[in-house]
Amino acid sequence: MTNQEKIGTKTVWAGESEYLVHGATQVPVVLSVSYGYDDMDEWYDVAIGKKKGHIYGRNTNPTVQAFEDKIKALEGAEAATSFSTGMAAISNTLSTFLFPGDRIVSIKDTYGGTNKIFTEFLPRQQVEVTLCETGHHEQIEAEVKKGCKILYLETPTNPTVKITDIERMAEAGHRAGALVIVDNTFATPINQNPLSLGADLVIHSATKFLGGHADALGGAVCGAKHLIEQIYHYREINGATMDPMAAYLILRGMKTLHLRVRQQCQGAMKIAKYLQTKSIVEAVYYPGLETHPNHEIAKKQMADFGGMLSFSVKGGVDTVRELLPKLKYANRAANLGAVETIVGPARTTSHVECTPEERAAMGIPEGLIRYSCGIEDAEDLIADLEQAFARVENSIKV
Ligand code: PLP
Repeated sequence: MTNQEKIGTKTVWAGESEYLVHGATQVPVVLSVSYGYDDMDEWYDVAIGKKKGHIYGRNTNPTVQAFEDKIKALEGAEAATSFSTGMAAISNTLSTFLFPGDRIVSIKDTYGGTNKIFTEFLPRQQVEVTLCETGHHEQIEAEVKKGCKILYLETPTNPTVKITDIERMAEAGHRAGALVIVDNTFATPINQNPLSLGADLVIHSATKFLGGHADALGGAVCGAKHLIEQIYHYREINGATMDPMAAYLILRGMKTLHLRVRQQCQGAMKIAKYLQTKSIVEAVYYPGLETHPNHEIAKKQMADFGGMLSFSVKGGVDTVRELLPKLKYANRAANLGAVETIVGPARTTSHVECTPEERAAMGIPEGLIRYSCGIEDAEDLIADLEQAFARVENSIKV
């Protein structure tokens, strides 16, 4: 590939050619844990990284490398490395760079697991954590200016799809000498490339939109070679390696990433607009809506607004309990980004680790429903919501 191709061509072709052996047109799954050498000098050269090749599956694997090469191309990065899960990508990246006495600045409503790293694990390692109001750019700038090693962002956020201006924050981070890291899971490389907006590292839970079929766990980090080498080294020793079978499934899913995400964006927009017309719905959170507080920033930095939205309903948890089981075309599950629509209360899914008080502090109502739009026809999804709302309105006084 020349790197001039459009994103849809890259999702199909990028990163694969080197791994197609024996004329295979698809990247083979290499399950071998180790790689044998008759020539002791060659073995040594590969082991010390002087020569290309593989030694042991915890370090590298051809199928996993094909995944890394594809996500690297999609994010326009110099290098990429992979992980067993998105959380492993986040925790290993933070552990690579943060030492006792360091400080990290982030936002209050990152994904619940990430938030737990900030509130529970990093303080235990004597890392100072400052969490700012999400989308409050002046506050983030002021905190970053005091000095920090990392500025960590997630945009759009899980589950209330809040937006932070990556370009502005990258400038603030770099003025303070910080590494700027962005979790791009919700946007996907189809809609947003944080590196081109000035971020140093971009993180993905590959479990979500990248894989897209809810059948494989994975994570990735992309960025400059000298940073990725350090993260790779931490991961190869600490062992949160991506499984080759997962790499294969995610690679296969990524070939249709652009088609899926475009369909999901269109569906999410239609559903968000529909939800705004329903009196049972209290609030709709979707960056594509003009009513979204940071719609203009989203328009500037995203190609489209993503397949994720959330909404709160009158009657709170009681209504949620009645409503969700009535949906025909939705999995009620703790996942997102798949071909099927997935729904779930944030209190049970993304932010189950948090207390009700912590969720309230993050602006997550107990009756908030996260809606991951699948690739079904939006008209059917809307009809499904319509029948479920009608039945709930009959059975609950809201
Ligand atoms: N980042 C975001 C934004 C997420 O939503 C999630 C999981 O939902 C993760 C990271 C963690 O990914 P994984 O479940 O693959 O560890």
